[in-house]
Amino acid sequence: QLSAISEFTTDIQHVAGKDNRVADCLSRVHVSSVHLGVDYAAMAAAQVLDQDVQVYRTAVSGLRLEDVTFQDCGASLLCDVSTGQPRPMVPRDWRRRVFEAVHSLSHPGVKASVKLVGAKFVWPGLRKDVKGWASSCVACQRAKVHRHTKAPLEPFLIPERRFDHVHVDLVGPFPPSRGFTHLLTMVDRTTRWPDAVPLSSTTTPEIARAFVSVWISRFGVPSDLTSDRGPQFTSGLWNAVAESLGVSLHRTTAYNPQANGL
Ligand SMILES: [Zn+2]
Repeated sequence: QLSAISEFTTDIQHVAGKDNRVADCLSRVHVSSVHLGVDYAAMAAAQVLDQDVQVYRTAVSGLRLEDVTFQDCGASLLCDVSTGQPRPMVPRDWRRRVFEAVHSLSHPGVKASVKLVGAKFVWPGLRKDVKGWASSCVACQRAKVHRHTKAPLEPFLIPERRFDHVHVDLVGPFPPSRGFTHLLTMVDRTTRWPDAVPLSSTTTPEIARAFVSVWISRFGVPSDLTSDRGPQFTSGLWNAVAESLGVSLHRTTAYNPQANGL
């Protein structure tokens, strides 16, 4: 096949768009009506009957109106050619349909919709029409978040008594040292007294044992304990231990680690 093709010579020449009046679908793929699902032949018939279009045909305006034949459908439409790409003048009854064909592709925003429709079509009041339709598109209103309401996160007050409110957290894993891989860190909220216990595992019994033997044995039982939402701190055993000691547990909001910092 290649040897057959190589018998031909090629000579590629550029034909400027304005000299290429009878553009075919290969040279002007981007004006193809097929992709948008807009029937240009039917629109051409509607143009003949539309008063707006007929007025514009003779009126003086900023547009450069010419009849352009679209080769892929054979339709001849009155188009504005001032932008370099022929934009059909859309008859009144067709405007909403054209907007929907363009907008429903990806439901772009108001500005982008105006730009997209305006790049391919033209009609008097296009900007205003498209703005109104795009901003009232039900699918857009359902799917797009226009505003986030954010409730402020409740800050912690510094408690009055020392060792009354303790923050605990798990740190690690670290490279093993004498069998220990994790640290249980404990910080008093009032005095910021820190303490850390090495752990060889992160099971709830081990953490509870470390907390009781290291912290409670020296500073007494706190009334409040704050942790993140790690599985050890949300387990049933952890809750049972806290309940038997009379400690009320607090958990930081997910993705709000600063609530557990000091
Ligand atoms: Zn939409």
